Amino acid sequence: MDECTSIRNELGVYLLGAITPADRARVAWHLVSCERCRDEMAGLAALPALLRRLPAGTVMQFAGQSALPPASIPPKSLVDRVARRRRTRRWLTTAAVTSLAAAASAGWAVAVSNSPPARAPAAAVLEARRIGGVRILTDAQGLTVYWFAPDSATASPCTDSCAAKWPPVPGPVSAGPGVPGTLGTITRPDGTVQATWDGHPLYTARLDTAPGQASGNNLDISGGTWHECAITRH
Ligand SMILES: [Zn+2]
Repeated sequence: MDECTSIRNELGVYLLGAITPADRARVAWHLVSCERCRDEMAGLAALPALLRRLPAGTVMQFAGQSALPPASIPPKSLVDRVARRRRTRRWLTTAAVTSLAAAASAGWAVAVSNSPPARAPAAAVLEARRIGGVRILTDAQGLTVYWFAPDSATASPCTDSCAAKWPPVPGPVSAGPGVPGTLGTITRPDGTVQATWDGHPLYTARLDTAPGQASGNNLDISGGTWHECAITRH
């Protein structure tokens, strides 16, 4: 199962608050850097409020509770149950989606735009990890972070199809343990903010699909050469 599929299986319980702290952190970090999963979550964002508005009997049927708890304070028993049985999570998500469908068919107003926006994840952290004997920068998910030789300290020419292959690391970011240097940001041509490290705008590579990979290192494509951000050689 790839990371996005795994995360999407958790989004329902993440929004409902019935998730362990460790899994909550894992989902939050993923959402920082994955626009597609953020979109998915935005589509589900009305779920908690909607479930609270369903008749109590309906909610009981799905959640096994007399009333759905506030999203931010899951009862310990529910969290324990979710942690114990992974299948329960998928079941809860399915139940939530089923409730949505039931609510829609029963004429309940589904007003996604009126729901409070999902809380933004905490600012991302850059980490120092050892990959292939070299200490390098990674994003919070452990994906290798790169700098692009044609960049200046204030501008990135990597846009459009380049940026699709080399996603800019959203800024601002903070430094995890062992990360030296100066962190900053630039504003990209499309108005988004990109993190920088010692004057280098930062990217990840679509080529890398898991921590421990540095497939983009020293590649000369997309108009220039890409380098992993090596701390030891810095
Ligand atoms: Zn994703």
